[in-house]
Amino acid sequence: MPEILIAGTALRVANVFCVGRNYLEHAREMGSTIGTEPMVFLKPSSALVFAGEPLQLPAWSQEVHHETELVVAIGRGGRNIAAADALSHVAGYALGLDLTARDVQAAAKKAGNPWTLAKGFAGAAPLTSFVAADEITDPQALEFTLHRNGELKQHARTRDMAFGVATLIAWISARFGLQSGDLVFTGTPEGVGPIVSGDELLLTLPGLIESRFQVA
Ligand code: MG
Repeated sequence: MPEILIAGTALRVANVFCVGRNYLEHAREMGSTIGTEPMVFLKPSSALVFAGEPLQLPAWSQEVHHETELVVAIGRGGRNIAAADALSHVAGYALGLDLTARDVQAAAKKAGNPWTLAKGFAGAAPLTSFVAADEITDPQALEFTLHRNGELKQHARTRDMAFGVATLIAWISARFGLQSGDLVFTGTPEGVGPIVSGDELLLTLPGLIESRFQVA
C-alpha cells in the first residue's frame, strides 16, 4: 500500500473515498443536481500518483478530465464520528485530481454500470504533498486553483461545498467506518475539462501547496 508523509510521519493509505457532486456549479455543468445526502464512490489505492511522477493517460479513453479537489487524510479512524468532533480525526490536507475518463463514465452511466473503471484506473488519483491538519483551522475557508498550461481552469472556494469536511467525515464514518490512512477526495468545483499528452497542470493552495504535474 502506498504511504503519504504528513509533518514527517508516514501514514499508510487505506481506503480512498471520493465525493461526487459536492459543488452546485459543477453538478450543473454535468447536467445534474445535488441530493440531500453525499454521493460517495471509491478508487483503489493503486490509482494514486504522487507529485513528481508523470501522469499516464489510459489508451482506452479519448477524453480524460481533470477534477481538482481538496483531499483529507484521516489520522484517527472511528465509527459514527460526530460532526462536531470530526476535524480532530484529520491528519492533514492535500490537493488531488479525481481524473475521470469522461467518455467511459458516460457509457457506464448510460448502461447503469459502476464508474469504477472511469474513475479508478492506474494513475487516476494524483496527489500533492500534505499539509498538517493543525496548519488549517477551517477547511471551509480555503481557496484552491488549477492552471492547465498556465491558464486558470478551476478556482474553488471550499465554503461552496454542499457537504463540508466535517459532515462528510461524520457521514462516511457512519456508513463505512473510517480508518487511519483513509483519504477523502471532497469533490470538484466547476471548470472540469480534458487533459492531453504534454500538458502541465499546476495545483495551488495559496501559501501552503504548489505542485506541478506533467502529462506524459
Ligand atoms: Mg470528483
